[in-house]
Amino acid sequence: MITPHEALDIVLKHVRPLGPERKPLVEALGCCLAEDVRADRDMPPADRSAMDGYAVRSADLARRPRALRLVGEVAAGSSARPRVRRGTCVRVLTGGNVPPGADTVVMVEHTNRSNGSVNFLARPRKGANIFRKGENAGKGKLLFARGTHLGALQVGVCAAVGKAHVKVRRRPRIALLCTGEELRDAADGVRSHEARNSNGPALCAALDAWGYAGVTHDTAPDDLRMLTSRLKRIAAEHDLILLTGGVSVGKYDFVREATERIGATVRFHGVAMKPGKPLLYATLSGNRHVFGLPGNPLSAMTAFHGFALPALRRMSGMAARECRPSLRVRLASKLTSKGGRERNTLARLSWTGDGPRVVPVKSHSSADLVAGGKANGVIAVPANVLEIAAGALVEFRPWRPLP
Ligand code: AMP
Ligand code: MG
Repeated sequence: MITPHEALDIVLKHVRPLGPERKPLVEALGCCLAEDVRADRDMPPADRSAMDGYAVRSADLARRPRALRLVGEVAAGSSARPRVRRGTCVRVLTGGNVPPGADTVVMVEHTNRSNGSVNFLARPRKGANIFRKGENAGKGKLLFARGTHLGALQVGVCAAVGKAHVKVRRRPRIALLCTGEELRDAADGVRSHEARNSNGPALCAALDAWGYAGVTHDTAPDDLRMLTSRLKRIAAEHDLILLTGGVSVGKYDFVREATERIGATVRFHGVAMKPGKPLLYATLSGNRHVFGLPGNPLSAMTAFHGFALPALRRMSGMAARECRPSLRVRLASKLTSKGGRERNTLARLSWTGDGPRVVPVKSHSSADLVAGGKANGVIAVPANVLEIAAGALVEFRPWRPLP
């Protein structure tokens, strides 16, 4: 059986970023750029006042009394250009262009007015309180290289350089099909031999949380012919298919066979990890991918975050090394493990006065979704490790984007 490390390598070797599309900027949050973004003009485009105050010639304040005649005003957004000549000053407001002739801005708090003049109580250094033309970026400067992931600040920068539309990687079209004769919806009655479909809502929510909303979600019975025809239809319209359940060696586990019948190539089936061992990964032509996630809720979430989410992020254009969210955090209390395969132990990342700490969460099995409800990620415990001491740095893999 392959290791989790090998499995992720196989996935990232097959997944390619999706083609570009032009999108309104307001819809591009969470997307990766498929073009470079440059400053369309100097930033700022002119010398700008950083304060509400008065634009002066610094030399005029060298001698007392420091009083200058007020000859005009430049507010933010004003195109007025009153010249500051010897012995005069111009009122400026924050963001207004510094008028010609002036070399310094004095804060309004350091002045007082009398009739048509302004008295200056202080003399700031020459050039004070002015944002210089182009000091943040000169026209044409590369601000974001293609591949940059757009968060709120990056969206702001795009807007600031006049990009109402951006070229980004297309979002993957995702389908989720939960298999299992026993599954019932949350709204339905449920008898003792039936189970509520928790994987469907949990995975839809996880996808939504990671920026992949609008997933097609359905359930399917354990019937090979039906599963095959459903899969075939879904595959024609989606880039990535997630299945849950039916992927181990039970008599009614048909996911592998159905996947092969629609022409997919199985790249691996079974990974040396706990939970999540039965995971299946297959590819279809045209950069389409199928993940058969195990049915048990914690196995499904582990396999999703470990392999399917990285595939989605790679399709979205993120760098391969950033595709699996992971950080090194201190362990709050001792962690014990049974050894053997690499483990993903439920854990909760929390903030203490002393920084982030990760607390292991006990669970009975990979079916123990109740324990999962106390966690927000897992600790990756390497194979054959039996104990990790409190205070050690561990690899925490968040199951939701961090605040
Ligand atoms: P399977 O992998 O199909 O053998 O399923 C393993 C276990 O996970 C069984 O107990 C299933 O009832 C349970 N299971 C499968 N799919 C789901 C689901 N969508 N929601 C909750 N439990 C599930
Ligand atoms: Mg099943």
